[in-house]
Amino acid sequence: WELTIFAFFAFPLALWPIRKIGKSIRKITYTIQNEIGFFSNVLGESIRGIKQVKAYNNQDYETKKAFKTINKIKNYFIKSAFISNRLSPLMEFIGSLAIAVSIYAGGVFVLNESMTTGQFMSFLVSLLLAYQPVKALGNLNISIQEGLAGAERIFNLLDSENYLVEQDKNKSNHLKIKEGKIEIKNLSFAYNEINILKNLNISIPDGKKIAIVGLSGSGKSTIISLLLRFFDNYDGKILIDDQDIIHHSLYSLRNNIGLVTQDTMMFNDTIEANIKYGNLNASSLDIQKAADESGVNEFANSLPDKLNTIVGESGIKLSGGQRQRIAIARAMLKNAPILLLDEATSALDNITEKKIQKSIANLMKNRTSLVIAHRLSTIEDADIIYVIDKGKVLDFGKHEELLKKCKLYSQLHLQETLIRDQ
Ligand code: ADP
Ligand code: MG
Repeated sequence: WELTIFAFFAFPLALWPIRKIGKSIRKITYTIQNEIGFFSNVLGESIRGIKQVKAYNNQDYETKKAFKTINKIKNYFIKSAFISNRLSPLMEFIGSLAIAVSIYAGGVFVLNESMTTGQFMSFLVSLLLAYQPVKALGNLNISIQEGLAGAERIFNLLDSENYLVEQDKNKSNHLKIKEGKIEIKNLSFAYNEINILKNLNISIPDGKKIAIVGLSGSGKSTIISLLLRFFDNYDGKILIDDQDIIHHSLYSLRNNIGLVTQDTMMFNDTIEANIKYGNLNASSLDIQKAADESGVNEFANSLPDKLNTIVGESGIKLSGGQRQRIAIARAMLKNAPILLLDEATSALDNITEKKIQKSIANLMKNRTSLVIAHRLSTIEDADIIYVIDKGKVLDFGKHEELLKKCKLYSQLHLQETLIRDQ
């Protein structure tokens, strides 16, 4: 055991570099993974935006951008290799030191005759055999630290998801929606401390059609995001049938709202599956009906596979207007008591819009609907029109009233009439 003490004196010496190098490796691996994430983003954007890249002759620019991140990653990898390979010679040195000291001490013991040569030799051989596995422990720490750096990123993500679920404290407290009356009271909201909505008051009686108009950037779409609780950190209250949506389950809120937006999301599946997304339990008869009413069949019927046509990634094989018709069919299928339309027909030409307007009118029947329109002609018949400017309600009333009393509204109307008459 005396010899073992001599052999083990090197262990505490080895701990320090192992820990220090492990720490650096963890830090640099974290950075590397961040950079790789960034690189995937750069690559993804240039592939998705391939039409823009080519149309603007920006291949070189994109290539340079990609190489810049690749080089950055390469340099981090080199640095990481430098650091981790420093460990091996250090461990080798410390190990040899331990063996040298043991041989010296063993030699002294043998000369003193407190130990036989055979005992000493067997100790030495076992020490040499133990040396490799002990050295491997140092490298093991490097792998562990690399793994922990990855785990840190993953846990950050998992924890943030948990946070959202926990925010939804009222999982079993479902909204009970009979009429779908919506009241927005003193609503203020900021993205990153820039105030977007300021003390907004909007009241939507049940079963009525309310329109919101305003210049782009005035905060119209933001109101819809808050109605669906994509953001929770607003001031003021949103009530549906006198129930504060913040105290009720997200599921029940979103289950009762149909949404059609300006940028429609398509999945790389058949047209039918994309419509069915609105209600996964719908029968194919219901889907056919929705496809008829929304004008989907009008273009689908001329496709070889009809509703079974695959739409491509993000619906790339369809035109913007066709995608919007599918989105409208999806909302029809969902059949929710509240309907939110955010420039739902902006990608349609006037003629198609007129046709679909009828089916949208059908869709809105007996529903509370909030319509953000890009063409005033589609909302002239709304029960109340709110004019929003810079996040505030400028005025509200019926079309005829607003034409007389609201300058912004009459300007918007005038411009549209001019364009139409051109
Ligand atoms: P509108 O629909 O009336 O055209 P939005 O509600 O989309 O306007 O946007 C209102 C303002 O909020 C704009 O100035 C826009 O830049 C900003 N904004 C919209 N979405 C975000 C976001 N996710 N993060 C930060 N700012 C945003
Ligand atoms: Mg918008």
